[in-house]
Amino acid sequence: MTGNNHDTHKNHNSCTYADRIVSLPPYLFAAIDRAKEDAIKKGVDVIDLGVGDPDMPTPPHIIDSLSASARNPERHQYPSYTGMLSFREAAAGWYRDVFSISLDPDCEVLALIGSKEGLAHIPLAFLNPGDVALVPDPAYPVYRIGTTFAGGVPYTMPLLPDLGFLPDLAAIPDDVADKAKLIFLNYPNNPTAAVADRSFFREVVDFASEHEIVVVHDNPYSEIVFDGYRAPSLLSVPGAMDVGIEMHSLSKTYNMTGWRIGFAVGNAEILAGLGKVKTNIDSGAFEAIQEAAITALTGPSDCIREMQKVYTERRDLLLAGLRAIGINAAAPKATFYIWAEVPDGRTSLSFSSELLEKAGIVATPGVGFGEYGEGYVRFSLTSKTERIGEAVDRMHAM
Ligand SMILES: *Cc1c(COP(=O)(O)O)cnc(C)c1O
Repeated sequence: MTGNNHDTHKNHNSCTYADRIVSLPPYLFAAIDRAKEDAIKKGVDVIDLGVGDPDMPTPPHIIDSLSASARNPERHQYPSYTGMLSFREAAAGWYRDVFSISLDPDCEVLALIGSKEGLAHIPLAFLNPGDVALVPDPAYPVYRIGTTFAGGVPYTMPLLPDLGFLPDLAAIPDDVADKAKLIFLNYPNNPTAAVADRSFFREVVDFASEHEIVVVHDNPYSEIVFDGYRAPSLLSVPGAMDVGIEMHSLSKTYNMTGWRIGFAVGNAEILAGLGKVKTNIDSGAFEAIQEAAITALTGPSDCIREMQKVYTERRDLLLAGLRAIGINAAAPKATFYIWAEVPDGRTSLSFSSELLEKAGIVATPGVGFGEYGEGYVRFSLTSKTERIGEAVDRMHAM
């Protein structure tokens, strides 16, 4: 045993993390995971409404497509960097069907290994050290982290309830806007479940053209919509193709989070910049997965309508339960989240701890998405409907 001491010591010394890792904010979600594991160890029957990861399986026709394609040796080699042309055509066709937007599959579509991958890499294409990226708060953490990994400086755009959780572009000082190279947006929004209409996107495009900013719209929830609401694409407003791209994903639309496949669409030059970064870092998505994704994008959409029905039922169940115990939350038109106000006298952290301790329910404290998430917790609708019903009963008894 003692003979190992020298080696351990040496390993320890040679392992000095880079500043970008050391300076990462504490990963709150890891702490939540630990609290959840502790509760499970104590025998608590935990209901996890924390993570946004669909519980429903990938539709069978997509799985069949993968297994057939995986048996084809032609699919076993390195994929092309931009994605198979047939995949890019399917993505373009999907955009035409869903948003009535026409895209050139040759240069206006780029395959991604999940949209998170594209979001994390795009700052490397557009930010020099010290350059500014405009990032919303609260938000999916990748926009901010990807920016700092590239040596960029995030400028926070608060998302506040008074403006429907849209950023106030007019409040961004001119000198900041002029220095900014990138702006990240995400509607339907995670975590607030807010939506944006075309007039907001028009404002964004004007703002970005005036200040020469690349717009990155993260749009993985466009099909997770309720009550007949339809989420617009950024690219549907005039001028958007000149300044922006949209990131899309099969993860949420087809219950394919584990498959790691998505795509970016929009301005060809912007995509070429992202493509250049990717060419030097990854080697593309497994072609059998791309073929399964083609099956998804070109196949029947009744699986999407079924999924929408399930989330609608869960949303209504949880909202009614929250309101019955005096917790305010708006009914979301889209996404599978409920962004609920924490009761008086609690913080987002203390309320989520209370939910876990008294009811065995995991919810994500809003502050985990940024300082402007304080005062809220996020409930995810990606657990079985009967578990959500059980969560409602337990909250009632708290
Ligand atoms: C889920 C999610 C993503 C990531 O999707 P992948 O394609 O699975 O990487 C991106 N952005 C937001 C806001 C998300 O909630």
